[in-house]
Amino acid sequence: MNLEIILKEIYEQVKNEPCDGMVTSSIPELNKVDPDKFGIHLLRQDRGDFGFGDYNQRFSIQSISKVFTISMAVRLHGEDIWKRVGVEPSGSPFNSLVQLEYEGGIPRNPFINAGALVIADILLSSLKKPKDDLLEFVRMASGVESIGFDYQVAASEKATGFRNAAMVNMLKSFGNLDNDIEAVLDFYFHQCSLAMSCKELSHAFFYLCNKGFTFDNAIEIMNEKKVKRINAIMQTCGFYDESGEFTYRVGLPGKSGIGGGIIAINPGKYSVATWHPRLNPKGNSVKGMKTLELLTTYTSGSIF
Ligand code: GLN
Repeated sequence: MNLEIILKEIYEQVKNEPCDGMVTSSIPELNKVDPDKFGIHLLRQDRGDFGFGDYNQRFSIQSISKVFTISMAVRLHGEDIWKRVGVEPSGSPFNSLVQLEYEGGIPRNPFINAGALVIADILLSSLKKPKDDLLEFVRMASGVESIGFDYQVAASEKATGFRNAAMVNMLKSFGNLDNDIEAVLDFYFHQCSLAMSCKELSHAFFYLCNKGFTFDNAIEIMNEKKVKRINAIMQTCGFYDESGEFTYRVGLPGKSGIGGGIIAINPGKYSVATWHPRLNPKGNSVKGMKTLELLTTYTSGSIF
């Protein structure tokens, strides 16, 4: 089975399909992105890699960054973080406030915004230079030194991020936030603004495919037990109230972002990243989901 040929066929097929998804309007700067950019890149366990379309162009990874921050928090604190955030799917939109109120300020999981804000708070309490340390982590995982924040995107989200501001205030009122709310929001908006290409993403997240080791086997990011935990949370919570749908259609652990990116992991086989900015109403990339669904269907390659 030639993965490269299969993926090329899928790329051509999905590229030409009509798509009524919408580019996010929640962050004004992201609304300027060309809606029809489309890229895919796959990195295999045997180090073979290939990409199609706009796979070398950087975009705003948004909530995909939550996989980096939960990885950093797990490296620093292990199981202790689960006292402050759960591992259950929320069944709610990523920016919902309702559940947080009636569940006493403990977010369901680290991939909804409330959970990611608690993880940001944990990192702020544990690191001397949190933003620099995050960049260092991403550069170490990807092997690409030039990866950085998109300050315009971060500023644009800061100017309009009223819901996230409400979220940190509610977390604070429940005693589940140690740092200043402005500092937590600032870190969170910057992590979401990280700009990376599909190729960089498939390399950066290869440790989740490779028992915790980077794509070149040079660095152990985390041990196998921790990889199991992160992949499990991606499988159950990576697509918010569409996590069941993604599991049903694709059958791989994955994570989306409202910049239109998706990463998915086939443990021991490959990591793959897609980018297409048109989103469905749940905030997930329409063509990204379709591409990955066809990939696991044509290759009989889901984890199930
Ligand atoms: N920065 C975005 C937000 O907090 C991230 C959301 C996403 O990618 N799902 O709303």
